[in-house]
Amino acid sequence: MRVGTIVTIERASAINKAGERGVVYEDYGSGVSIIFESGGYDGFSLDDLQVFGVKEVGVCSLLSGYNFTNVMRLSEDFSRGLFKPGFNYGKPGPRQCDEHAWQTDPASHGLIDVCTKCGEERA
Ligand SMILES: [Zn+2]
Repeated sequence: MRVGTIVTIERASAINKAGERGVVYEDYGSGVSIIFESGGYDGFSLDDLQVFGVKEVGVCSLLSGYNFTNVMRLSEDFSRGLFKPGFNYGKPGPRQCDEHAWQTDPASHGLIDVCTKCGEERA
């Protein structure tokens, strides 16, 4: 699974609830690292992916260029809503919010802003 892949997880683990959505933020070859909606994150070996029933939902182009450096940075990125477009990926819902919270999409090399509340994009 490549970075930016959106997944659902069937079973609860120490870091996630059953049915939560997650975003793959790192692919280390023998497995992937996933961060979940509630903020938990961890690495999953290919076996773990099977055991926990991790299923691919799609790939969020806004997050496919995410460059994982360390977990402190990861937590900060989570806190400022960087992964929200991924958690909302493909979900129907209001595309408008009262006041957009624009943030530059790192995958776009600064060309596109994404609203961290509704996922709307602007060039
Ligand atoms: Zn918005």
